[in-house]
Amino acid sequence: MNYQTFFADRLDALKAEGNYRVFAELERRCGDFPHAANHGGGTTKPVTIWCSNDYLGMGQHPKVLTAMHEALDRCGAGAGGTRNISGTTHDHVLLEAELADLHGKEDALLFTSGYVSNWAALGTLAARIPDCLVLSDALNHASMIEGIRHSKADRVIWRHNDLADLEAKLAAQPLDRPKLIAFESVYSMDGDIAPIKEICDLADRYNAMTYLDEVHAVGLYGPRGGGIAEREGLMDRLTVIEGTLGKAFGVMGGYIAASADLCDFVRSFASGFIFTTAIPPAVAAGAAASIRHLKTSQVERAAHQAKVADLRARLDAQGIPHERNPSHIIPVMVGDPVKCKYISDLLLKDYGIYIQPINYPTVPKGTERLRITPSPVHSEADMDQLVTALGALWTQCELARMPLAAQ
Ligand SMILES: *Cc1c(COP(=O)(O)O)cnc(C)c1O
Repeated sequence: MNYQTFFADRLDALKAEGNYRVFAELERRCGDFPHAANHGGGTTKPVTIWCSNDYLGMGQHPKVLTAMHEALDRCGAGAGGTRNISGTTHDHVLLEAELADLHGKEDALLFTSGYVSNWAALGTLAARIPDCLVLSDALNHASMIEGIRHSKADRVIWRHNDLADLEAKLAAQPLDRPKLIAFESVYSMDGDIAPIKEICDLADRYNAMTYLDEVHAVGLYGPRGGGIAEREGLMDRLTVIEGTLGKAFGVMGGYIAASADLCDFVRSFASGFIFTTAIPPAVAAGAAASIRHLKTSQVERAAHQAKVADLRARLDAQGIPHERNPSHIIPVMVGDPVKCKYISDLLLKDYGIYIQPINYPTVPKGTERLRITPSPVHSEADMDQLVTALGALWTQCELARMPLAAQ
């Protein structure tokens, strides 16, 4: 086999489908986010980012930066080891305590990312609990799917957010068989929210554990930023709550929060926890400062929700179709991978607006979209510019608009 030809051919096929991924080379400027420099194509141009998961702008919050500078000066750069071999620093332990408190759980366990936390925790639980069956929502994130697959445990996929289908699949199993229901609160691509209470009710009835990914909700929902489960008073009903420190908290890392024994179990058996260098102490300190701030401050959450409502209203006024979900994620549907990429390219080239196109396999074919994430740091002028640009491109590309009466 000619390996290089194989690689090139596969890439050409991806490009022909419109599914080839091109990354924008951004330079974030502290204090200026969502504005950044774009280093694409040999030039440097200013750009406004409309697709970041730094939902609240905490990546440049003074308290976070101060904590990181302080820890960097106090501890140096890296953790210097795996958690097992000299890499558990005081800052890691403080952060885990902060996380356990955030979710009202006995303990929490830190990982190098949210992806790794799902992969390692689900992989370990499903593999090590004898005869465990994993019931996985059809739209679960790749990290959960990979963890479940890696466990080699039996799995059944239930229709997305469909309680009747979940119940049928639970009821088909012996009551005493160990079961783990894995799902998310806010789904990142459609922005819809799971019926958490009803899923917990089913878990109780059918003797199942629950594993909830709150990656797109922590920091953003609930009086202390504990997520949708906190907002709905359900945190104590979930066996495991998983989250990231890289999205609304603005830094990096992932975690689970659960009972002390469950955390100790994963700590003791998860390869993806044990055999990798711990996150730098400065990263842990920054994340802890971000969590601590968002436990008491409502300002960012309120401003975030206000910006989301404002942008939705402006899109409606232009007839730009977007999914009407109950979260902060605004998917503007294009429904064609080539057009989606084309609009994204024009936004960047002609308007200095950066929105990454979301194509297959991240979303099903035919549902290609621009996933817009407004934040408190987007200004009125940023919004005007975005909606004007989208309006012009909708006309230029002859895309359907929502009739005003249908809105
Ligand atoms: C981003 C994401 C993750 C992974 O979190 P990282 O900290 O970015 O690795 C996990 N679950 C969902 C639903 C996500 O969108």
